[in-house]
Amino acid sequence: MTIATRILNGEILTPEEAYTLFTDETLDTMTMVHEAYQLRKHYYGHKVKLNMILNAKSGICSEDCGYCGQSREIKEKQRYALIPENQITEGAKVAAENEIGTYCIVMSGRGPSDKEVDHITASVERIKAEHPQLKICACLGLANDKQAAKLKAAGVDRYNHNLNTSENYHEEVVTTHTYQNRVDTIETMKAHNISPCSGVICGMGETDQDIIDMAFALRNIDADSIPVNFLHPIKGTKFGNMNQLTPMRCLRILALFRLINPTKEIRIAGGREVNLRSLQATALMVANSIFVGDYLITGGQPNQLDYDMIKDLGYEIDYGHTDKVVKAK
Ligand code: SF4
Repeated sequence: MTIATRILNGEILTPEEAYTLFTDETLDTMTMVHEAYQLRKHYYGHKVKLNMILNAKSGICSEDCGYCGQSREIKEKQRYALIPENQITEGAKVAAENEIGTYCIVMSGRGPSDKEVDHITASVERIKAEHPQLKICACLGLANDKQAAKLKAAGVDRYNHNLNTSENYHEEVVTTHTYQNRVDTIETMKAHNISPCSGVICGMGETDQDIIDMAFALRNIDADSIPVNFLHPIKGTKFGNMNQLTPMRCLRILALFRLINPTKEIRIAGGREVNLRSLQATALMVANSIFVGDYLITGGQPNQLDYDMIKDLGYEIDYGHTDKVVKAK
């Protein structure tokens, strides 16, 4: 019986089994992609979800995340305070015009002030009135219970807060907040019935075991949406000279995440273009979601290339959420 058939029959790979699969050099990556594709096809057919990022506040951050060009450690960076409501709602209009399903409003910083949350919620209320079909994801950093309640009341559908890396490797990535801080924010959002989006950044010096641990941590936290970022090294950051990824390794990582989180929205996130290069379309046979447009402070490819890729694959854009519709066996 194939791995995909076993998973479709309700089996869950054990961490040991996943490690063996991931590291077995005699198992070629395309075989893993093929197994993962069976699951992608079963749960998502030929649909692709599109997301668009708005960097609503940039730089000015107290934290020391080793991958981030907005960290306090970086001198040269794009800095601005929280942009006016009109600019946030204008971004939503652009998203709606570009067939985007989820508009992601992102703020730099450890976490939002109450005043910033009020600014975001006022913007979200306007967006929901103007574009009711557009799903809103907020990514504002560490947030508390009261802030989560306000976001939910304003109509925020989803909250992104990445685990980023494994619990073991976390201190190598950031020292100004803990792995548990991140888990707590995700749990706070879940408690307010906000769909949890949480993912990782691969290529920061983590081991194969760390990657297995991340995939299972996200399964355990029950993230509805899993952005898998591939490090796009930014000059001056701790990981600015890191060069650990190849397109085939990125594919293998995505396949692994699909095998461990078969029913979840798996998004090829930041670093897609520079790390997967010509294998982006192959990666969409495993993942079912991408960002269209630019990332926070790095550029994406022109939108049309993404729409062409989807069409060339014979895929179609999916506007809806399937959160909690498809249950893991
Ligand atoms: S990832 Fe967020 S919290 Fe970390 S340095 Fe960048 S902006 Fe600050």
